[in-house]
Amino acid sequence: MPIRTILVGPPGVGKGTQSAMMEERLGAKPLSSGMIFRAEIEAETDLGELAKSYIDRGELVPNGVTIQMMLKRLRSAEVQQKGFILDGFPRTVRQAEALDEELAKAKIELDAVISLEVDESVIVERLSGRIGCTKCGEIYHRINKPPKREGFCDKCNSPLFVREDDQPSTILERLKVFRANTAPVISYYEAKGKLIKVDASQDPDVVFAEIVEKLGL
Ligand code: AMP
Repeated sequence: MPIRTILVGPPGVGKGTQSAMMEERLGAKPLSSGMIFRAEIEAETDLGELAKSYIDRGELVPNGVTIQMMLKRLRSAEVQQKGFILDGFPRTVRQAEALDEELAKAKIELDAVISLEVDESVIVERLSGRIGCTKCGEIYHRINKPPKREGFCDKCNSPLFVREDDQPSTILERLKVFRANTAPVISYYEAKGKLIKVDASQDPDVVFAEIVEKLGL
């Protein structure tokens, strides 16, 4: 059975790390709205140019373009077949409602929404040292998880980069945006009985094991 799930939580909680592990070990297709935006920026598309002005300030890209972009990917044959792990979407209640409508139309039921939870002080520490792979999306940390060869990905050898929005002032803005816009998404799914809470302060392997257990896999 394909897995159809959403990872929700503040920036830096480990959504990207967990969705990469879920892809590798469970074969589901990760769909990260942030990564898709960064690819659009890299490719210098109109959408990329629009998104960049919001992302650099730590603000949300408007709902309309974000919803359109994500629903298009959810309709792809690969996602229909393999299922999906949504990472970073939905980030507003409006996006969650649009996703619900889309899934209802396609007669697809969500398995669960996984809320990754951690103290804010841990988040700032994690994000301040974060480094990512430009190609495969693998995530490292300068102190907690340095790559074997400085500046290059262990997995695919591509150059690593520090996200422009991972600087202290932008991190605080993103946390503010999370509290205002995305915390209500967690309550939205909790009210629907879809929410699974996982303590994300633990080691990534332990977090992964807890997710698998709570999904009943
Ligand atoms: P992330 O990689 O998930 O931390 O996303 C990086 C940035 O992309 C966010 O701070 C937002 O500016 C933008 N973004 C990603 N996903 C969404 C979304 N679902 N809605 C609006 N903006 C988004």
